[in-house]
Amino acid sequence: SPQRPASGATVSALEETYELILRRNPGEPEFHQAVREVLDALAPVLDARPELADAKVVERITEPERQIIFRVPWTDDSGEIHVNRGFRVEFNGVLGPYKGGLRFHPSVNLGIMKFLSFEQVFKNALTGLSLGGGKGGSDFDPRGRSDAEVMRFCQSFMTELHRHLGEHTDVPAGDIGVGTREIGYLFGQYRRLTNRWEAGVLTGKGPGWGGSAGRPEATGYGNVLFTAEMLRLIGEDFEGRQVVVSGSGNVAIHTVEKAQALGANVVTVSDSGGYVVDEKGIDLDLLRLVKEVERGRVADYAAARGSAARYVPGGSVWDVPADIAFPSATQNELDADAAATLIRNGVKAVSEGANMPATPEAVRLFREAGVAFGPGKAANAGGVATSGLEMRQNAGRESWTFEQVESELARIMRSVHEEVYATAERYGAPGDYVMGANIAGFERVSDAVLAQGLI
Ligand code: GLU
Repeated sequence: SPQRPASGATVSALEETYELILRRNPGEPEFHQAVREVLDALAPVLDARPELADAKVVERITEPERQIIFRVPWTDDSGEIHVNRGFRVEFNGVLGPYKGGLRFHPSVNLGIMKFLSFEQVFKNALTGLSLGGGKGGSDFDPRGRSDAEVMRFCQSFMTELHRHLGEHTDVPAGDIGVGTREIGYLFGQYRRLTNRWEAGVLTGKGPGWGGSAGRPEATGYGNVLFTAEMLRLIGEDFEGRQVVVSGSGNVAIHTVEKAQALGANVVTVSDSGGYVVDEKGIDLDLLRLVKEVERGRVADYAAARGSAARYVPGGSVWDVPADIAFPSATQNELDADAAATLIRNGVKAVSEGANMPATPEAVRLFREAGVAFGPGKAANAGGVATSGLEMRQNAGRESWTFEQVESELARIMRSVHEEVYATAERYGAPGDYVMGANIAGFERVSDAVLAQGLI
């Protein structure tokens, strides 16, 4: 039965809290955007549960527990000195050790770190594993840097960060610009500094030194599995469907792989330079060679593919007609115009592989048009969930097979979908995954906050 509309008093109290957050966190538009989205879902919850309002839970969980900012000096191959800024935001630890990736990208700043770590809190809660939320990184730009430069940067970064980490304290992983190579350099430096072979301090490790099978695949596979559940409920599936994917990193590659395995025709990938349309379907072996071995660009993929593919410099993959769209590059990459184009072209499902890739206006258009929309904090939770499985293996000094990890991932994604769907239904918004994810994540975190006293 539909929930009655939230009371005016609750709505204006939330509005006041939001104003306070704006004043307290100036110049951080991405953080404001992420907070706004969560707060927009909360009025019916706070109406139903006044004890949460009395305990000021919203004010408490929108303020990070700790924000660490540090200097990262390093020398390039010519001996020149560079200074970058490092971050780790330990946003909320009520459910477990702070958990979340490290991003190395020139756009990184405190506001971006706060938005990502805030999202991570609710995403991690939805996995049902014991994981708090955090995020870190640096404005370091790895593009065009040699292996040796990346190693020296990682060593300097960890020289400061290590004192804040620990398998029971804070457990980073990768994100944009940080993959197995970087996690390796970071892990090596952590071991030298602490004299501890502490596998559980980082996830996304290599398979021979404490990493989990299936971790590289997990975010992309998980998003496709989540989307398969959304499609199932509207009587659809991937078979023969046209799919567009943005990005060409780890998440995008494994999204392409899983969607193809389920019978879809995936026709695009992209990077900051442009996108490629490959009408017969992305050649995954070639994409992997270009991206993972040669560390090249999608323009190189298009060139190697010859007449089969078309490269479009600049532009947007969202102009390509699709049944299903997976934004898997970065925040705010899919705006209202792009959403309108996708809807006009008949898109049925859009699911976020990246964190907050759709702008609030785009999300609103998808919801109004009845498009099945998977918000990142639910749809891409498979990555961090599998990090949780890696931590479990590390704690037990075990190593599971790919099949074990994949079936556990599939179970978790089904349960995330089910919980999000059921929560939205319970609050009178069936099919609204944004509402469901925000409420379900918020309730899990808030119950722990209440139980643990004034923290
Ligand atoms: N960076 C990923 C995310 O956005 C994974 C974090 C992790 O595995 O800790 O969820």
